[in-house]
Order: sequence, then structure tokens, then C-alpha cells
Amino acid sequence: MKAIVFSEHGGPEVLRYTEAPEPKVSATEVLLRVRACALNHLDLWVRRGLPGISIPFPHIPGSDIAGEVVKVGELVTRVPVGQKVLLAPGLSCGQCPACVAGADNLCRRYTLFGYMVDGGCAEYVRSPEVNVIPIPGDLSFEEAAAVPLVFLTAWHMLMARAQLQPGEDILVLGAGSGVGSAAIQIAKLVGARVIATAGSDAKLERAKSLGADLVINHSRQNIAEEVKRLTERRGVDVVFEHIGTATWEMSVASLAPNGRLVTCGATTGYEGRVDIRYLFSRHLSILGSYMGSKAELYAVLKLLGQRKLRAVIDRVLPLAQCAQAHKLMEKRGQFGKIVLQP
Ligand SMILES: [Zn+2]
Repeated sequence: MKAIVFSEHGGPEVLRYTEAPEPKVSATEVLLRVRACALNHLDLWVRRGLPGISIPFPHIPGSDIAGEVVKVGELVTRVPVGQKVLLAPGLSCGQCPACVAGADNLCRRYTLFGYMVDGGCAEYVRSPEVNVIPIPGDLSFEEAAAVPLVFLTAWHMLMARAQLQPGEDILVLGAGSGVGSAAIQIAKLVGARVIATAGSDAKLERAKSLGADLVINHSRQNIAEEVKRLTERRGVDVVFEHIGTATWEMSVASLAPNGRLVTCGATTGYEGRVDIRYLFSRHLSILGSYMGSKAELYAVLKLLGQRKLRAVIDRVLPLAQCAQAHKLMEKRGQFGKIVLQP
């Protein structure tokens, strides 16, 4: 089969479009013909290499996968050949206390397609049956692939961790990113007032079209000062963080009393300073969040099937152009998801 394969870490040039062996399915697995695979910031981290983590080489990237079932193992009971499906991106043991409690994203063996196991940047991918979910509603393969990782992440951050309430104010950083564009929509569905940031006026217009009430251009405005101005100096109840060092202090400074900062990433760096006096005297909470459970993915997919939430796709490219897509993401040139088609 054709696939994107890399055997060393580095820049986009390590990604080769080449032949790879077709995956063999075990008794409890399903073989998918991939019809669409969406990229995430995780793809960049995995390609560059992460400290202390050895990715098995040769490696096929890609965590967000939609396609058709073409083969099932003999113990598979729920998934028929021919079904149009997407894959829950998170893989876990299914048996530990976290997994059986429904918090599979906290499993010690948790990983993702395209991370420690081969992903969907290929013509075929194998998956455990438990990860296979029918595509909801009339979503296309491209839309279905654009959803799982970012909508699951944003949903878990806002609903499970920050517990965003109707009428609250939320600051969503990086509206042009996959998680940012998902968070704006979920926050509006909850009934919150959304302040979104982006680095260009064109991206801010798109943020407004997704429902953002107020916008801040972070390339020429100070986020914390603007938040204070837009909220009559009160600050916001929730900050949706995934930027890291570049925005951290402004994010903390933007919180109202009882405010919650929830973060799922640090694309600009891992270090963030917090004035502890400010933390306790203002009753602030700093919440980490990593992916979400399979049950939460079912919950968010139901809303996508009903078109109450929408996949945001920047562009669809042939799989062979994976390296160009990585370059585009590194320049933050996109609004929403880049989807590849094998
Ligand atoms: Zn487990």
C-alpha cells in the first residue's frame, strides 16, 4: 500500500510517500480503507521527536482517521464489512481501573494512532474494534476525520474540566487552530460569551462566523488589557489555553475571581510563571487536560451528526502532499483542519 513513512526525526523532509506493507489484523481488530486523515499539532511533535519517547520506526503518522471497513477479525461482533466509520484516536488497555471507570484517557498504556502505533496517513490502517465508531449523520469522510481529536479535546476541557456554565465569559486562544475552532462552537452551544484571539483579521472574521462574540488580534493588541477592557475590568471565567509560554502570564492575568484556566498544550514552550499570591487571593484554578474518554467522543459526535457543531476544514490535500501540509501548519497558515486523502 502507499503510505507516508518516516524512519528518523527531523523536518518535513523526513516524510516519504512510499510503499509500506498492508497491516495484518488480529482476531479483535478491524482493517480500514482510509478515505481521509486529518493532521494535528501532535503530528509535528511526533515527526520532530519528543524528549524521552522513542517512536517505533519505520513510522506511519496520522491520528484522525475515517474510512470504510474492509476486513474484520474472527472475534469482531459489532462492526460489519462495508460500514463507513471513524476511529476514536485514543488506544488504551481496556482493563485497568481507569479504563473500566470510563476514563480511558488516563490509562497508563494510553496512546494514539500515529503516535506509538501506526496511524492513518496510509491506504489502510488496523484498529481494535472498540475504537471503531459509525460516522454520525451525513458527515463526509473529510468532515468525520476532521472531528475526533480536536472536538474530544475541547469538549473534555470545557465540559469535564472547566465546567463552563451558561452566561459565563470565556477567552479562547488561537481561534484558527483545530481545538480553538472547536472550543468556540462548544462554548456557544453551552451559552457562554466567547472572546476569541487570532493573529490576523481574516482569522478573526472566521472566528466570528463560528460564533465568537468579541475578538482580539494578538499581533497588535495585548490580550490581558483587551480582556479587561471588554469585561469592564472583571476578567473571564474560563481561559482556554493551548499556546504555552507565549500567552501563559496574560492568560492567568485575564481570569476573573473564581476563574479557571484549562490547558491541553504548549505549542510555544513548556515554562509558565504563576504569582502564587494572585492564585490564592483570587480563587483561581489551573486545570490540565489530556484528550477525553471514548464516551465523551460519542457525546460530541452526536452533536456533529445533528449539525449543532461543525467540522472546520481549511483544505483537503492528496496524501502525497503530507510534507507540504506539515510546512503549512508550522507557519500557522491554516484556519481549522488540514485533511489528507489517500
Ligand atoms: Zn487501561
